[in-house]
Amino acid sequence: MMLAAPIVRWVSERWLGRPVEAPAAFVAALAQIFEQPVDHVRIFECSPYARWHAGARATTRRNRILLSGPANGFWSDPELVLHEYFHVIRQWQAGRLTILRYTIEALQRGYWLNRYEIEARAFASHHLCQLQELLNQQSSNRPFPFATRHC
Ligand SMILES: [Zn+2]
Repeated sequence: MMLAAPIVRWVSERWLGRPVEAPAAFVAALAQIFEQPVDHVRIFECSPYARWHAGARATTRRNRILLSGPANGFWSDPELVLHEYFHVIRQWQAGRLTILRYTIEALQRGYWLNRYEIEARAFASHHLCQLQELLNQQSSNRPFPFATRHC
């Protein structure tokens, strides 16, 4: 039994990727935007599982965002952050998105026209300025790199 936890962790990291902490500023700002806590969403970087989805920078599952590359690239792209959190909070968590439903949608409409992706893109686009403003308010001494973008 003593070995179970390390073995589970080893298998998890080999498959899901390396777990990383979400920056506190993002957790606070996203909680405001989604009007509910988001600190239960676990982030994994350099995820073999995400890389298995060819061409995707990230993939999501219930309460998880799996990044194909390092997390730094994810946090420096707030539109992608909103997009992936939308999949988790508003689609997976709400029970609207399942692997079967997404697969059927993707087979019928492809990636760009699939309704789960259309909704996530629209939400991210609509809330991008709000996220940038919330992040900048929290880091007035050290603006985020994208702070110069105009909203
Ligand atoms: Zn998506």
